[in-house]
Amino acid sequence: MSEPVIRTEELNYIYPNKTAALEGISIDIPRGKKVVLLGPNGAGKSTLFLHFNGILKPSSGKVFFGGTEIGYGKKSLEQLRSKVALVMQNPDDQIFSATIEEDVAFGPMNMGLSREEVERRVDEALDQVGMADLRTKPTQQLSFGQRKRVSLAGAIAMHPEVLIMDEPTAGLDSRMVHELLELADELNQQGLTVVMSTHDVETAYSWGDEVRVLNRGRLIYSGDSDGFFVDGQRARNIGITEPILYDLNRTMCRRNEKAPAPFPKNVFELNQKFGQHAKVLGQLYYLPSDALDQTSIQEVRHRMPHAAIGLLGTKARRIGCNLNLQVEHRFDAYDEALIEVGQGRDFVLVGDTSWKDEVERRLALLNSTYGTEMRLKIFA
Ligand code: ADP
Repeated sequence: MSEPVIRTEELNYIYPNKTAALEGISIDIPRGKKVVLLGPNGAGKSTLFLHFNGILKPSSGKVFFGGTEIGYGKKSLEQLRSKVALVMQNPDDQIFSATIEEDVAFGPMNMGLSREEVERRVDEALDQVGMADLRTKPTQQLSFGQRKRVSLAGAIAMHPEVLIMDEPTAGLDSRMVHELLELADELNQQGLTVVMSTHDVETAYSWGDEVRVLNRGRLIYSGDSDGFFVDGQRARNIGITEPILYDLNRTMCRRNEKAPAPFPKNVFELNQKFGQHAKVLGQLYYLPSDALDQTSIQEVRHRMPHAAIGLLGTKARRIGCNLNLQVEHRFDAYDEALIEVGQGRDFVLVGDTSWKDEVERRLALLNSTYGTEMRLKIFA
């Protein structure tokens, strides 16, 4: 196994008021993965994150980045924070500038980048979080969800190796949660390690490659999400309920005398495992987002009048919104595509190239796990 991007050794932290927030934490964050830090309120998640980019210094124990113990001098911390970006739970702890663009530019400017490069990064980051139109707007006038997006843009603009988000989905509506998780996927596809804390088990279960569980300042589990819930009592003891898909799988396995693995992570997979296997699946097509405009959508409608269309990823969604394209699915298009195809309907996924590769990777895994024969055809 390669060296974890972040690792701690016997980390203890006691706040000045004598609260022992972290006790003996030896945790690893594998490079290039999507990692969820799960735990009830007060478990120590935020305190741990503040150690990952050196805002807090351990009372005892060590923190490593890329195999090297982190230093707490000004230079070392600056370097660390350009590689490990932390998005705090409350955006008001992070937004200080008068306008959105100034706020997003703050980190890159402090890194000593040229004006042009800062500009480029601000443009790109605001685009990714869907705030490009509002760049000159005063930060004082933003809604909670918009402030969250701005603080995320500030972190992305640093081009970090690790993006850490503390409770990023808290307080967002479900549409924004889908957007956020999709953006996190995109950043991960580009090579970032993405770490997020949550007490939302459904997200932890279906999104994370790896799960770490904290309770009362101690690390009680490291592994994949299925492994944690195998011991249902352990989860319930710390007030974490089982994810619905996990629960359904277990109940249906009992009834059908099937083995618990594989663990379905979406409705389509659950259906493949237990439902009547659909004999005729619809066909999944991919249309590059570069080719997306009114004409290409009309062409799809003309040639496949019964197909559904879904926008996958920030770029496709942005183009779709700008052109006000009429499509069936603007959010959660991958899962929606599986459901529709499972019911025999053709589906056109519109996304950029990194999404094409990702969908092919997911389908290959799906086919080998569930015996399906899903293929992605280029719409041409
Ligand atoms: P989580 O992020 O999992 O909700 P926190 O890291 O915020 O947990 O808190 C862990 C423990 O540390 C809790 O007991 C909390 O009350 C305490 N704590 C957090 N911040 C402070 C602080 N600034 N001063 C004193 N105690 C704190």
